[in-house]
Amino acid sequence: MKIHEYQARELLAKYGIPVPPGIMVEGPDDAARAFETLQNRYRVKVAVVKAQVHAGGRGKGGGVKLVRSAEEARQVAYQILSKPLVTPQTGPQGVRVTRLLVAAGVDIAKEYYLGVAIDRARGCPVLIASAQGGVEIEQVAKEHPEAIFREPFSATERTEVVLAPYQARKVAYRLGLKGEQVRRAAKVMHQLCQLFVEKDASLAEINPLVVTKPTDENPDGQVLAIDAKVNFDDNALFRQEDIKVQADPTEEDPSEARAKRFGLSYIKLEGNIGCLVNGAGLAMATMDLIKLHGAEPANFLDVGGSASEEAVTEAFRIILSDKNVHGVLVNIFGGIAKCDTIARAIVTAAKEVGFTVPLVVRLEGTNVEQAKKILAEAQKDIPVLESALDLTDAARRIVHNISAGKTKTPAAKTGSKKSAAARA
Ligand code: GDP
Ligand code: MN
Repeated sequence: MKIHEYQARELLAKYGIPVPPGIMVEGPDDAARAFETLQNRYRVKVAVVKAQVHAGGRGKGGGVKLVRSAEEARQVAYQILSKPLVTPQTGPQGVRVTRLLVAAGVDIAKEYYLGVAIDRARGCPVLIASAQGGVEIEQVAKEHPEAIFREPFSATERTEVVLAPYQARKVAYRLGLKGEQVRRAAKVMHQLCQLFVEKDASLAEINPLVVTKPTDENPDGQVLAIDAKVNFDDNALFRQEDIKVQADPTEEDPSEARAKRFGLSYIKLEGNIGCLVNGAGLAMATMDLIKLHGAEPANFLDVGGSASEEAVTEAFRIILSDKNVHGVLVNIFGGIAKCDTIARAIVTAAKEVGFTVPLVVRLEGTNVEQAKKILAEAQKDIPVLESALDLTDAARRIVHNISAGKTKTPAAKTGSKKSAAARA
C-alpha cells in the first residue's frame, strides 16, 4: 500500500524526523490560504506547492513549484490541478492531481538520499544512503554504484534500537557530513529504520534529505526531510490500522480495488482475452500460452486456491466489465477450489451479466465430472460456451474464436507492455 507525501511527512514527524511544516489542500483558494498560514505562523517567505500523486519524478514533470506569495500559490495550484501530471514514472497519459501540499520552502545547501528497503539476498532490512540525492536513486545505482552506501541491520527482535548508533554515524561520515550534521543525520537514519520496522513498511525513502544553508542560529545547517515516500506490506495492514485508513482509493484502479475486496489477485493488462485462472503459476502459464498462440491477455487473474462461488462470480463481473475483453478463457485446476464451484459461478455470471463474447473453459481436478455436467446443461443458455480438452486446446480455441470474429465487437489492439509477472 502506498500513501501520499503529505501523509508520509506526518509519519516521519511522529518519529521525530525534522520536516518543514506543510498543509494539504484540494483547491487554488485553499493553497493561497495555506501560504498565508505558513507566512503568519512560521514567517515563511518561500513555499513549495507539490502535486500529491503516487508517482515520483514530480519535479521533472512540473509538479513541484516554488512560490513567493499567496497569489502565486493560487496560480501554481490552479495550473497543477488543471491537467494530468506527466512524470518519468507515470506514462504519457499522466495522472490526475486532486491534492496538493503547500510546504515551507527550504534554502538547500546539499541534497542526499536516504532509504530503507529489504535486502532480499541477505534476508534483512538495509539502510541505503548516497550523497547524490534529489535524483533517481536507480540512475545513481547504475552509473555510480560506488556512491551508494548500504548498511544492513537486524529486525528479528522489536528492540528499541534497530540501527546501532555506530552504524548511523558511519554512514553519516561516509556522506561527508560534519559537526552537528553528523548527529542530526544519524538520528534521522535511526528513526527511519525504526519506522520501517514498526510500521511494516516495504520501502521508506527520504529523497532528498537536505542540509540547509548555514544561518546564525544554525551555523552547521539544519538536516531536513523535504520529500518522503513510504510503502507498506499489504499483508501486514491488519495490524496497522492507522496506516490502512490512509489509503487513497482515487489512486487505485477501480477494478483492481474491487478484486482486492473479494480476495482476488487481479491486474489489468492491455490485450483482449480475459483470463480466469487459479494459482499464480497456472495464471502465468496461461498467459504464456495465449501469447504463444498469437494473442494477448487482457488481465492476470488468480482467484486463489479456495475461491468461493461468490468471489468467482465477482471475478467474471470484473473481467466482463472490461470493454477490451473479446473472449474469456477459464483455466482451473480444481484442488481446494472445486471444478463444480467454478462451473456454477460461470452459470451465475452468465445469467447475471451474460457472455456475449466467446468463452472457452478448461477444467481439471476435483469434481470435474459434476462440473462438466453443469456446463453441458447450461450450454443452451450460454451458446458461446465451449469446453476444451486441455490447456493448449483451450488457448488455440479462444484465439481462433476471437480472430474468426465470433465476437460482437471488432478485434482490439493488442500489445501488452506491462509485465504481469513483475506486478503480480
Ligand atoms: P520528486 O521530484 O517527486 O521526487 O519531488 P521532490 O519533493 O523530491 O522535489 C524535487 C526537487 O525539487 C528536489 O530534489 C529539490 O531539488 C526541489 N525542491 C523541493 N522542495 C524544495 C524547497 O523547499 N526548496 C528548494 N530550493 N528546492 C526544493
Ligand atoms: Mn523526491
